[in-house]
Amino acid sequence: MNVFEYQARDLLARYGLPIPAGRVASSPEEARQVAERLTKRPLVVKAQILAGGRGKGHFLSGFAGGVRLCGDPAQVEGVARAMLGGTLVTAQTGPEGRPVHRVLVAEAPQIVGELYLAILIDREHRCPVLVGSSRGGVDIEEVARKDPEEIHRMWIDPQSGLWPYQARGFVARLGLRGALLNRASDVVVRLYRFFYENDASLAEINPLAVVEDEEIAVIDAKVGFDENALFRHPEIAGYREELIEDSREAEAVKARLNYVGLSGEIGCMVNGAGLAMATMDMLQRCGAEPANFLDVGGGADQDQVAKAFGILVTDPKVRSILVHIFGGIMRCDLIARGMVEALSQVKPKVPIVVRLQGTNFGEGKEILERSGLPIRIADDLADAAEQAVAAAREAR
Ligand code: GDP
Ligand code: MG
Repeated sequence: MNVFEYQARDLLARYGLPIPAGRVASSPEEARQVAERLTKRPLVVKAQILAGGRGKGHFLSGFAGGVRLCGDPAQVEGVARAMLGGTLVTAQTGPEGRPVHRVLVAEAPQIVGELYLAILIDREHRCPVLVGSSRGGVDIEEVARKDPEEIHRMWIDPQSGLWPYQARGFVARLGLRGALLNRASDVVVRLYRFFYENDASLAEINPLAVVEDEEIAVIDAKVGFDENALFRHPEIAGYREELIEDSREAEAVKARLNYVGLSGEIGCMVNGAGLAMATMDMLQRCGAEPANFLDVGGGADQDQVAKAFGILVTDPKVRSILVHIFGGIMRCDLIARGMVEALSQVKPKVPIVVRLQGTNFGEGKEILERSGLPIRIADDLADAAEQAVAAAREAR
């Protein structure tokens, strides 16, 4: 799970990393207020999206750059107005871009040099690896391609951790000397502590800038976390709701549903992740694409089923719904009753194909048939997928 730059800055600041003062804003007026409270000039306004390459990006409106330097609060307000509500396209977003709901307003130190610094997990070596270059900044990908010897690596033994002398040795390889060497190695040690203590999977600072007075500053930060360890970090897990850009997924998180939005036209509701994957495979084999992955789990209650149907029927791309339930611990008749209740609440306009299997499946089927709802019952998975695909084609 990657977090926004402004969230990464807050987390890194607690580890004493040198981060220029700034704050996030979600309206042009708020951006101006943040700017007025900052003392140094110039300032920088940065679009907050979960993708990099913002400096070289452009908005669909034509406005150039997701990172802009500004001289005063009035200019900050104007730039924030141009960015907020817009869609930013960068080399990492794809042509559709990402919506910008927040901007970071920060003091912008004068930059003398740009370094690249990152810690990530090297799966091959099964340990964290420190990656650095003296040629950081917006062209780091090109450096990695054309001059790979300028990208330095040092593997870290998680048992013994990263020692200051190792950090200094690494920073020396990036060409830093004297006070800068000490400051940059201190950053490396602190970044590793952050990485280790928070179960991060990535902590990248690009650029780590050399600024006036031989100081070092974290200009841009990208951090990601191991989702399987999020339970140990409730505060970071709490960022999740702010991170969701897909409104369908935001609803699903609220209903505690295991939902992933996709771009096809067949809505899926399945109990069990493996069964959901098999169902999606079968749809693909029938030449159609699922609109989502949705595992309602073994113990979904009626309210959750209703919310799940709610998300599927409000998705404008969905042309038919495929419900695939195996009644193991939950009996099919109970599931069918829950579905009928939920569907009479939601009143779907698209056809629904259901495959029920398992305990009491005969009773379940009967309940669905007697309900008078637009439900088609399928005998097996292949039949269910074919019917759902055919129904979607008819609807089109
Ligand atoms: P990215 O393009 O998404 O990686 O966004 P960055 O925050 O890395 O900004 C891109 C580039 O804009 C940086 O490499 C800097 O050259 C420049 N930039 C960003 N913030 C500042 C700042 O505070 N001061 C100065 N002088 N330049 C900045
Ligand atoms: Mg950057």
